[in-house]
Amino acid sequence: MERLHIAFFGPVNSGKSTLINAICGQEVSLVSPVPGTTTDPVRKLAELPGLGPCVLIDTAGLDDESLLGAERRRRTLAILDQTDVAVVISAPDFGTLPSQLGIPVVHYTRGESVESLLQRIIAVRPREEARFLTGDLVESGDTVLLVMPQDSEAPKGRLILPQVQVIRELLDRGCNALCCTPASLASALEKTTPNLVITDSQVFGLVDAAIPADMPLTSFSILLAAAKGDVTTFLEGARAIDRLKPDSRVLIAEACTHVPDTEDIGRIKIPAMLRRRVEMPGQAGHDQLQIDIAAGNDFPDDLAPYDLIIHCGACIANAQLVRARIRKALLAGVPITNYGIALAKLQGILDRIAIPYSRTRRQSS
Ligand code: SF4
Repeated sequence: MERLHIAFFGPVNSGKSTLINAICGQEVSLVSPVPGTTTDPVRKLAELPGLGPCVLIDTAGLDDESLLGAERRRRTLAILDQTDVAVVISAPDFGTLPSQLGIPVVHYTRGESVESLLQRIIAVRPREEARFLTGDLVESGDTVLLVMPQDSEAPKGRLILPQVQVIRELLDRGCNALCCTPASLASALEKTTPNLVITDSQVFGLVDAAIPADMPLTSFSILLAAAKGDVTTFLEGARAIDRLKPDSRVLIAEACTHVPDTEDIGRIKIPAMLRRRVEMPGQAGHDQLQIDIAAGNDFPDDLAPYDLIIHCGACIANAQLVRARIRKALLAGVPITNYGIALAKLQGILDRIAIPYSRTRRQSS
């Protein structure tokens, strides 16, 4: 289940942090009578009655006039991209902005109980039809083979969130989930003929070469794109890879901030594949493909200079954020795709990829 993102907006010292602390029943945000105590947005994961898992986001004051005020205000407004419900405190003018963006707003007045506020959030929260990550690609009784490299990029001692979510979903749906690494793929295929193979996008080419051409294949990143983004837009966006020239400019957008390692997919692998495809060694201007990285909330306001945006799988972000970025890209006329679809395109196998809810193939048993 995706966490509901509830963001709190209001002027400096309007009681946003105090309210979040009251909701959580603990001191999450530093509370102080000194105006401007909250500078950057502060996040708290909480399980709230009637709402389930939530992210509460405390923001800087909208009227912060300190030296850094303009930058803080920009960061506060950027939070709207990931806001499912906006709680607005003493800021009647600001109240219209989330509404214009289609974000439900709850106006909080001092003295209202936490229980009453939560009830009002429950009443306005967006309710989307629950969709399976694996969509219509599996049925109860299917065997699904998951190919999960455990290389230096994998976190030590645990699986990453999309892998855990997919395994849990397959078990809930009555499927058999069989896990392997690229190294043990051949022996796994000797033991079973899966109805679907889900792989890490980085080894798409290797897995495609190892399985029969009619065996449905997809990736964790593509499942996320279908669940959180707009897979049609992403597929269309991937075509722009064919139009890139050596002097094009590409934005790699990450939804979180993390410390990249030498195998980083967005910073190392995809840029290297793009350069191999687009640049022409030995010819003038062969080394000019400009690739910018935007991490976390630093998604640029001005997208016009870009020829293509490649967005990460957004595993720890909500659908609201991905959709807001897709909207901005489309408004700026810039094609946008995501890691999984870009990797399938770059490895020449986009046409054989199974996409949830797109009536693509599944192998009969
Ligand atoms: S949010 Fe994006 S950049 Fe961060 S770990 Fe998930 S896929 Fe990678």
